[in-house]
Amino acid sequence: MRIAVYPGSFDPFTNGHLDILERSLRLFDEIVVAVLVNPNKNCLIQSSDRVQLIKNVLGERPGVRVEQFNGLLVDFCHKSNAVAVIRGLRAVSDYEYEVQLSTVNRQLAPDLETVFMMSSPQYSFLSSSIVKEIARYGGPIDNLVPALVAEELRKNFSATWKVKTPA
Ligand code: ADP
Repeated sequence: MRIAVYPGSFDPFTNGHLDILERSLRLFDEIVVAVLVNPNKNCLIQSSDRVQLIKNVLGERPGVRVEQFNGLLVDFCHKSNAVAVIRGLRAVSDYEYEVQLSTVNRQLAPDLETVFMMSSPQYSFLSSSIVKEIARYGGPIDNLVPALVAEELRKNFSATWKVKTPA
């Protein structure tokens, strides 16, 4: 049984995340989507709601678990009996941070591999921040996130759309 952890903020979960998750399932028997609880990051959606939303999006998908985590990623991986961490790479801009993260994790846990998956070209521009920016101004997000996520974002931002700025 080869288990991998796919960690992230997932604020919110996008089609780019879903693509990486689905492709990782071809390589591993089980993927644990690990939703980071980060008090230093100002998230739009509360971590427990992010977990529930991803669970609802994924439904009963065999080989996937969704959990919340805080503390060191390597500790969470060991607790989960994972052999690898999955990370997505979109562009050169992701590279520097990801090298830093994987190097630190390798020092903390030499038994744990980081597996990088290249983003599919249609999602290489897609980030949770971009989705939030578009949603904030009522723009179209249906091709960027799963339907349930789009619904949640509309709920979140619809109050601000009603406040019309003077012409
Ligand atoms: P973090 O705050 O850990 O970067 P994110 O939720 O932004 O969390 O991303 C989680 C992981 O998913 C990261 O490895 C990130 O590079 C990857 N990722 C995010 N968006 C995409 C995308 N569009 N295509 C491929 N990978 C992505």
